[in-house]
Amino acid sequence: MAEAGSFADRVKQQADIVRVVGEYVRLKKSGQNFTGLCPFHGEKTPSFAVHPVKQIYHCFGCGKGGDVFNFVMEMDKCAFPEAVRIVAEKCGIAVPQPKERSPEERKENQQRAVLTEMHREAQLFFVKQLETTGEGRAARAYLEDRGLDKDAIERFGIGYAPSGGDLLLRQLKQKYPDKLIVESGLVSRDQNGARLFDRFRRRITFPIANEPGKIVAFGCRALGDDQPKYLNSPETPIYSKSNVLYHLDRAKDALRRQDFAVLVEGYMDAIAVARAGISNVVASCGTSLAEPQIKLLGRFTKRVIVNYDPDAAGQAATERSVSLLLEHDFEVRVLALPAIGDKKADPDLYIREKGIEAYVKALKEAPPYVDYLIGRARQMDLTTGEGKLRALNFLLPYVQKIPNRILRSEWATRISQQLRIDEPVLRAALSKAANERRSEVKTRPELVGRAAKPVERRLIRMLVEAEGFKRELAQRLQQERLYQGLETEKIFAALIVAGLSEEPMPPTEIAAMLEERERRLFYEILFEEAQEGTWEEAESCLEALRGRRTEQELAQVQREIESNPSATAMRELLARKQELLKRRAAG
Ligand SMILES: [Zn+2]
Repeated sequence: MAEAGSFADRVKQQADIVRVVGEYVRLKKSGQNFTGLCPFHGEKTPSFAVHPVKQIYHCFGCGKGGDVFNFVMEMDKCAFPEAVRIVAEKCGIAVPQPKERSPEERKENQQRAVLTEMHREAQLFFVKQLETTGEGRAARAYLEDRGLDKDAIERFGIGYAPSGGDLLLRQLKQKYPDKLIVESGLVSRDQNGARLFDRFRRRITFPIANEPGKIVAFGCRALGDDQPKYLNSPETPIYSKSNVLYHLDRAKDALRRQDFAVLVEGYMDAIAVARAGISNVVASCGTSLAEPQIKLLGRFTKRVIVNYDPDAAGQAATERSVSLLLEHDFEVRVLALPAIGDKKADPDLYIREKGIEAYVKALKEAPPYVDYLIGRARQMDLTTGEGKLRALNFLLPYVQKIPNRILRSEWATRISQQLRIDEPVLRAALSKAANERRSEVKTRPELVGRAAKPVERRLIRMLVEAEGFKRELAQRLQQERLYQGLETEKIFAALIVAGLSEEPMPPTEIAAMLEERERRLFYEILFEEAQEGTWEEAESCLEALRGRRTEQELAQVQREIESNPSATAMRELLARKQELLKRRAAG
């Protein structure tokens, strides 16, 4: 609408949508966006968002969205030229000052860089201790005992923190001031706060990296019977437990390719599973998953197999995590490993005792969370009415979280059969639970496709934002036609047109090429919190799409093989199948 170089274009360049919208709607900063109550439909919880960088707004409830002019046209019920004038007046002639980084922000960034550097040094120190010292030799023997050979030690950067008490501290002191060393969490103060000493002593160290792969913390296991058995880095300016998933930095490609994650509790489990060839494993490194971790994981896949420890704490963590994952629209399965003899089996132990194949098989057969939960409910005493009520109350909160009515109904039938509860009684309880849910949960646009995969979402973001390579990305997608058949196909088609055009196209113009349903999905994706993409990540996403296409072709060929074709056709199909299997193995 606003042609390049026109008055409208100049106004649009100068207008700040947050300020303009802010005159009509009370906005609150929320992450990178501003949110408020939608002025176009009645609501009690805010689902209206304004994006200050992209200069667009979008309502997740009613689906209205656009640029600053669309907003004013809709609010003031006026035509485009009038909207341009109104916006120009509201903003005056003055160009809004771009926000400069404050001196505090700059200082914090510098500090974070130094803390990361210190962790890199600590990592080198721990690795060297394990390799070259007498104490380290004892630690290596312990690791070998746990089935961790030289390869594994190198691959996962396992090290050793010596018992001395200040060896690392002394090394860090040569380069950094005490204040920063304390901030790093690598050292502790004694009780009266006078003396500093190494936080980790006589422990095996496991480096914990953030998503880009920088070490930001350590998880440490006691070598002997020292307590606590596990001791981790405290929260620091570069590390927050709930924001990091162990092994995610190495699992990213596999997560995209396989489109599911195996979620385990600790780093020993993650290492055991990754060594078994299942690279798409991450550990929550704590008894339960936190919301930021779920959001982080959701950028790579929306399907999870939860494989926590089978003890009481692990079961509670499983249930809490399932519940949270469901709230975030994940597809969840639960693997509860059978006990080995009288020992309860965590993934590490199970793989060591039963072997990789047995674990892979158990993983493949992991039931949907529904069956897991019903199984748990059935362990309760169901012979009395009270017992049944308790079992039902255990299950209801999960039912409340299922957004889909048909699924809820399927649950009802299964629960009533399995727990032998009268179905009409159960349905009454369920619909009550569902009603309560409706009053709590935010409005959700039924039109928006929930199934758009994280890989597609990332590519869409990069096609909009990655100034450095979005053109090349559009070319690749066009040449290989990788987006065909995807739920997001039409969005990709529009983005490729935009990416290959000579003139830059703002998101609102791209949105104008889309139908209502796609337009909403497109805006929804633009509003997600996300980091800047890299070409490496884009390639990994493309690779995932290629892999998905091979899978689809394989399934198609298999269907044809099973449809009893002629001998000639069969030969061709089998040859084709071989070729696809080879391609899959190479991928
Ligand atoms: Zn709305």
